[in-house]
Amino acid sequence: MIIVGAGPAGLTAGLYAGRYRLKTLVVEKMMVGGQIMLSSTIENFPGFPGGIPTQDLIDRMKQQLDGLGVEIKNVEAASVASVAASRPRVYRVSTPEGDFESRSIIVSTGAHWKRLGVPGEEKLIGRGVSFCGTCDGPLFRNKEVCVIGGGDKAIEEAIFLTKYASKVMVIHRRNSLRATEILQEQAKANPKISFILDSVVEAVIGENRVEGLKLRHVHTNLASAVSCQGVFIFIGIQPSTEFLAAVVKMDEAGFIIIDTEKKTSMPGIFACGDCTEKHLYQVITACAEGAEAAHSAHNYLLHNGT
Ligand code: NAP
Repeated sequence: MIIVGAGPAGLTAGLYAGRYRLKTLVVEKMMVGGQIMLSSTIENFPGFPGGIPTQDLIDRMKQQLDGLGVEIKNVEAASVASVAASRPRVYRVSTPEGDFESRSIIVSTGAHWKRLGVPGEEKLIGRGVSFCGTCDGPLFRNKEVCVIGGGDKAIEEAIFLTKYASKVMVIHRRNSLRATEILQEQAKANPKISFILDSVVEAVIGENRVEGLKLRHVHTNLASAVSCQGVFIFIGIQPSTEFLAAVVKMDEAGFIIIDTEKKTSMPGIFACGDCTEKHLYQVITACAEGAEAAHSAHNYLLHNGT
């Protein structure tokens, strides 16, 4: 079994695969934990009142895998292909460190943050434009920052950033937020947070560092400018599935289409977590889906020879 991606979904798949005593390799191109490592705390994982630091949760998950002899390799899966004419089917995962073969694959590559695609955004990444409050928040002590987006991530990060910034302006394209109500309540009660609604970002202003944003009101079309030293962009996720193009069926946005057993369109390839098409993107659902994917993959291997 090869599991591609070591976020909560992949780590849980690894835990279950290890307990099924499948010879299991997990490959991860970035850090164990994946995208969730960009959040400091997980507040809604059952069993941890008050939340658990993300690093602690991921360390515990990894420890469970280590105890079962599941190997985790820090390498990128560049492509997946079916080894021609093999029966039972064998898949080859190509990486810069060589090829690995397995009879079943679980894809749990997660997603990454979308970009606004406006002038100045790309140029000023690392110079005021950020996609990670946990990483970059301390750089904005006593500074004014903008957070773009109205979902859970944007509001959670806006609250986090008030630890450092003197003022956090949330800029959202509609007049009501998408975020879970409890997060909205916390943000609205925070005196450092203000909201600029019905507004979109037209450009990030600044030569060598962020100096502000150019905005447009979506109803009046009026242009305005806001001064800030940091811009944190959280406008949703994009699945990390490019390496699987033409191997399994995906929707238009690249999320992998799976059935209720986490089967993809390719026999022997399963998928779980944020890289799949679903309606709730949470750590707890990613873990549950990882368990289901490993269960289905185990069944597949039992019925398709080893
Ligand atoms: P999300 O829920 O998809 O929200 C994205 C936000 O960005 C929406 O408010 C959306 O506006 C806005 N947006 C999208 N494209 C935009 C654009 N081009 N310009 C301006 N605004 C744009 O994404 P997310 O907050 O990043 O979260 C991703 C997933 O992770 C979600 O399923 C979320 O529930 C989950 N998550 C959960 C937690 C938690 O439970 N604690 C924490 C973080 C993330 P509209 O509202 O108008 O569409």
